[in-house]
Amino acid sequence: MLNASIVNELKAVVGKNYVMTDQEDMVAYSMDATVFSHLPEAVVQPANRDEVVEVVKIANRYNLPLTGRGAATGMSGGAIPLKGGIVIELTRLNRIRKFDVVNKFAVVEPGVIPIDFATQAAKEGLLYPPDPSTIREATLGGTVAECAGGPRGVKYGITRNYVLSLEVVLPDGSVVETGNTVDGDMSGPDWTMLFTGSEGTLALITAITLKLVPIPETKKTMLAVYNRLEDAAKTVSVTMSGGIVPTTLELMDKHCIVAVENYLKIGLPVNAAGILVIEVDGVASTVEENTKRVSEICKECGASEVKIAQTALEAEKLWQARRAIGRAYGQYAPCKYAEDATVPRTLIPALVGKCVEIQNKYDVPIFICGHAGDGNLHPAILFDPRNKEVTARADKALEELHIETLKLGGTLSGEHGIGFAKAPYLRAETGEIGFKLGREIKDTVDPKGFVNPGKLFFYEGELH
Ligand SMILES: Cc1cc2nc3c(=O)[nH]c(=O)nc-3n(C[C@H](O)[C@H](O)[C@H](O)COP(=O)(O)OP(=O)(O)OC[C@H]3O[C@@H](n4cnc5c(N)ncnc54)[C@H](O)[C@@H]3O)c2cc1C
Repeated sequence: MLNASIVNELKAVVGKNYVMTDQEDMVAYSMDATVFSHLPEAVVQPANRDEVVEVVKIANRYNLPLTGRGAATGMSGGAIPLKGGIVIELTRLNRIRKFDVVNKFAVVEPGVIPIDFATQAAKEGLLYPPDPSTIREATLGGTVAECAGGPRGVKYGITRNYVLSLEVVLPDGSVVETGNTVDGDMSGPDWTMLFTGSEGTLALITAITLKLVPIPETKKTMLAVYNRLEDAAKTVSVTMSGGIVPTTLELMDKHCIVAVENYLKIGLPVNAAGILVIEVDGVASTVEENTKRVSEICKECGASEVKIAQTALEAEKLWQARRAIGRAYGQYAPCKYAEDATVPRTLIPALVGKCVEIQNKYDVPIFICGHAGDGNLHPAILFDPRNKEVTARADKALEELHIETLKLGGTLSGEHGIGFAKAPYLRAETGEIGFKLGREIKDTVDPKGFVNPGKLFFYEGELH
């Protein structure tokens, strides 16, 4: 429990209705979308930047751990208050401050929900491309802090490609604005990118300037069905090396197809070994041509069937299936390690092969889906934590998956971040010098180490 006088100081800043200390509230704020949890001592919900500044100053003064939180859909434990202290939830900062249609940018607060922003942009004929599956639940602040990706990353890139500028509150309570609304700001190093993807370990984001692009004229969505998962994986690498850049190239293996079909009952091909959900967009003539060429590639690589969605509703059903994967897995096991192992695109077949090998070696189910066109796979290792023996096998499978991904020249995280869950393996990716530099940057910006402690370069467990 926090000392009553500190609780009163927090209440004086944000109002008494926006400070929680009850045990049941602490439980609700102890977790994110991973299997881990830790209780905070208080949760505060500031309404604006100035209140954020005051809360940061209080945490700094009393040396209290301070963990930023959006919607807690994170997959690497980033929003878990590992050392207790204060959780600062930024969902009340939820205004779109500015929409500049002519210059194609908008200034938003971190609590805006991505789909609300994308819908507003679409009304102006503009597209905000980053589309994580949690587009309806996450916050834009969380997506910038994690540098989220999504299916459209294949063609449009990930969140970092759209962040022009940030307003952040540093651990000493000072406010800095990085970057500019112009894309080509080269006045010194890119401070915006230092904070984008820093997982709330350096500062709290209170405003984000996001770049927008024109909505493509048209798009087509197709479904390619395979009897062999390797053929679906091969299609990804052949398409990407063939000069066509689809908007999305999403892979689902047979476990994943069956899980989603059982969950949604929308007519997915449950006898298939794998499917690809592919979208192409652009001007009508190019879309027509690319759809034809991609269908041919799918067939050349062994697809038994390629269906082109005839209506927007048919296409939306496929995306609904894709977005439901995480929830559908819950039918099979209470817990999963949902990874985002990412390798060079041409090595997707090799990574799929490694997942199958690891599944067989440790006898744990590994369901595979992912933004394969981006080299980003989401192997999910399913287990029941009440069974210690199974959990031990799942842990070993997870470790081997990380090691094999790095051996393939890949990264531990294509979009979910390192947080706490993957921190034990970070040194293996960055090397000693890279790791030391990461710590030194954190020490410089946050010398007391109270902002989101225990994550990223400040993991304190055993380092692999
Ligand atoms: C079913 C499911 C599907 C998913 N699919 C995808 C996907 O397709 N692509 C993808 O990239 N991710 C995906 N994710 C992961 C998750 O949705 C993203 O990481 C998202 O960006 C997290 O946003 P959030 O608001 O929930 O952040 P939180 O989980 O609340 O926080 C994440 C991190 O950001 C920090 N943070 C939050 N807000 C701020 C702020 N204002 N300032 C500073 N730091 C802050 C937190 O401290 C924490 O470290 C998925 C998750 C689930 C459960």
